[in-house]
Amino acid sequence: MKLLSPLEVVQAAIRAWSKSKGKVSIEQIEGFVRQIAGWREFMRGVYWTHMPKYKTLNFFGAKRPLPHYFWDGDTKMSCVKHAVQQSLDDAYAHHIQRLMVTGNFSILCGIDPNEVDAWYLGIYADALDWVQLPNTRGMSQFADGGIVGTKPYTSSAAYINKMSNYCSGCFYNFKEKFGERGCPFNTLYWDFLIRNRKLLERNPRIGMGYRLLDKMKEGDVKKITVRAAEVLKGIEKL
Ligand SMILES: Cc1cc2nc3c(=O)[nH]c(=O)nc-3n(C[C@H](O)[C@H](O)[C@H](O)COP(=O)(O)OP(=O)(O)OC[C@H]3O[C@@H](n4cnc5c(N)ncnc54)[C@H](O)[C@@H]3O)c2cc1C
Ligand code: SF4
Repeated sequence: MKLLSPLEVVQAAIRAWSKSKGKVSIEQIEGFVRQIAGWREFMRGVYWTHMPKYKTLNFFGAKRPLPHYFWDGDTKMSCVKHAVQQSLDDAYAHHIQRLMVTGNFSILCGIDPNEVDAWYLGIYADALDWVQLPNTRGMSQFADGGIVGTKPYTSSAAYINKMSNYCSGCFYNFKEKFGERGCPFNTLYWDFLIRNRKLLERNPRIGMGYRLLDKMKEGDVKKITVRAAEVLKGIEKL
């Protein structure tokens, strides 16, 4: 935000670490410095190297509008409800909420990246175009086709359950991918791979997903496609 220079922040943190006499561990200081000097500067570099074209990239050709619950939190999906409500209340969500809940849901549903960008830019206190855009359009939506990341950050409910306590109180069942109570993240995770096979199957980091898909019973693949179409048709009511 041009209030502090990254160098000043990194040097102050390292000074505090060296004075801490072991209270701050090397792993703690290394992680923090790497985020500032690594991720943050990488995002800045991506923005200034690839703009203005970057803002128009849409690798998957996604064009679905954002559902209403991004603005009111009124959804049965506990993870989305909590992450959105907190974002609207506090103008802040931590990285995993942004990446693996709201971002993950958006990429799996095929939401138009222009709408996703406008949402992140509009609601977070730390959002400025140069940092929000590569994080959202690149890291989270893979709309840049791989400039920021080497593969799309998508996950099924298993990861959300591992990283949070959202699933235990949810209307949906994080272990199921079919049926009324099957978690939409599960159905859409597999459907996303099926839908985007031509674009993704040659990506070596996604090979495992396609191998698992190819081992699934044909009937199950069909059931995923049918259920995913229902989920996406009824997206406003999830
Ligand atoms: C979809 C999405 C949108 C995001 N939008 C923004 C945004 O508009 N503005 C913003 O500052 N960050 C954004 N981020 C990055 C990140 O989520 C926040 O910087 C993070 O929540 C800060 O939390 P922290 O202070 O606990 O970070 P820590 O993990 O403790 O990292 C320390 C510091 O390093 C910097 N940093 C770490 N990761 C990133 C990153 N990916 N990009 C930029 N700086 C980083 C931040 O200054 C952060 O305070 C976004 C991430 C995603 C997935
Ligand atoms: S079951 Fe699915 S929708 Fe519900 S909290 Fe878990 S991941 Fe989110």
